Amino acid sequence: LSDRLGGILDKLKRRGALTEADVGEAMREVRRALIEADVALDVVRSFTDKVRQRAVGVEVIKSVTPGQMVVKIVHDVLVETLGSDADPIDLNAPAPVPILMVGLQGSGKTTTTAKIAKRLTERGNRRVLMASLDTRRPAAMEQLATLGTQVEVNTLPIVPGQSAVQIAKRAMDAARFGNYDVVILDTAGRVTLDEALMAEVAEVKAITNPHEVLLVADSLTGQDAVNTAKAFDSRVSITGIVLTRADGDGRGGAALSMRAVTGKPIKLLGTGEKMDGLEDFDPQRVAGRILGMGDVVALVEKAAENLDIEKAKATAERMRKGVFDLEDLRDQLFQMQKMGGMGGLMGMLPGIAKVKNQIAAANLDDKVFKRQVAIINSMTRQERRNPKVLDASRKKRIASGSGTKVEEINRLIKMHRQMADVMKAMGGAAGKRGPLAGLA
Ligand code: GDP
Ligand code: MG
Repeated sequence: LSDRLGGILDKLKRRGALTEADVGEAMREVRRALIEADVALDVVRSFTDKVRQRAVGVEVIKSVTPGQMVVKIVHDVLVETLGSDADPIDLNAPAPVPILMVGLQGSGKTTTTAKIAKRLTERGNRRVLMASLDTRRPAAMEQLATLGTQVEVNTLPIVPGQSAVQIAKRAMDAARFGNYDVVILDTAGRVTLDEALMAEVAEVKAITNPHEVLLVADSLTGQDAVNTAKAFDSRVSITGIVLTRADGDGRGGAALSMRAVTGKPIKLLGTGEKMDGLEDFDPQRVAGRILGMGDVVALVEKAAENLDIEKAKATAERMRKGVFDLEDLRDQLFQMQKMGGMGGLMGMLPGIAKVKNQIAAANLDDKVFKRQVAIINSMTRQERRNPKVLDASRKKRIASGSGTKVEEINRLIKMHRQMADVMKAMGGAAGKRGPLAGLA
């Protein structure tokens, strides 16, 4: 995809903002790539709309092409849609924590149950009990018992003739008496969705009150997997998804559809028949797989970094001349935010020590940062360049525009003044050979 996209847009060879036409043409290719990757059609549509909205008007960074720029935006939206962070199984509940495995027959529930049990035992150091509630297939309970022996995890002893609900109760009791940390309930599946299956799962859920309800789905079944997820979620409200047979799925489209349609996180990927074939879901990697590209994203990130350096140099030059207005402050706030505190340029200024703590404290949390930037954004250009004009009525206007309070604006102005004073003192005293001379 990235090659084709690059091809289309690189013909344009120009700088400036991405236009509606650039993005529109690129979106045709993106749409085709997503469909090839087995992404559901309505998901493709909403996804490309989102990218279009995000991309039109974005400045093309120096040294990358418009095509590469669009690919980067597509990638970012993909990662966001897939879920930005890995979302592991949540065990934050009183022991024994019940985990309910649901899904169609053959999707990989029993295999995944044993894989998860192995992982929680070995990596999480938990005591795990597994129980098969599959009363339909005669060999199902033995299958889980065999896997249990293999991964050295206990399974609930088999008592013939019990219903799924009876077994679930017995499993919970056994887990409580046996001081287990986690109890994983492996349910029966059907070849297709049916009401009897749903009713049984719903009843087991009501009785065991599971902390996680994991839908196990075969990533190779594409749209069927999406429908299954929707059906289970509306009936028993799942908390996450495990996509199996990812080892045979080079495309990754099911992940995007499942996530977009259910809004539920994909927690794990099954990557083989063996018991160690289980991986954390990594949105970056799956996004890369869907787009079939690697280097473009890194390239654009690198170019964006260089842009920051250029910007920092320009700011340094202005500071050296003793200029430091609220736009410079905003640049600095972004820089600090990105570096997680007093880093970059500010950290290099010796004179800043005086106000350092104040700035650091103000930027400790994300909320404060966002409010400060909102305040500056709500000002007119004239106000940002010359904060002296900020009188009571202007401050009131800015406060309501940014959803903040006048006191916050005063605090920001005070911080800016202190910083500007430091800059001025340094600019004047140090002149051309000041601490920033090397940068500018
Ligand atoms: P269940 O009916 O949902 O319990 O499904 P099973 O756990 O019995 O799995 C059905 C088949 O799929 C078995 O042969 C498994 O070995 C296989 N299987 C399960 N997960 C994976 C996976 O992630 N990759 C591959 N290649 N095979 C898997
Ligand atoms: Mg099974």
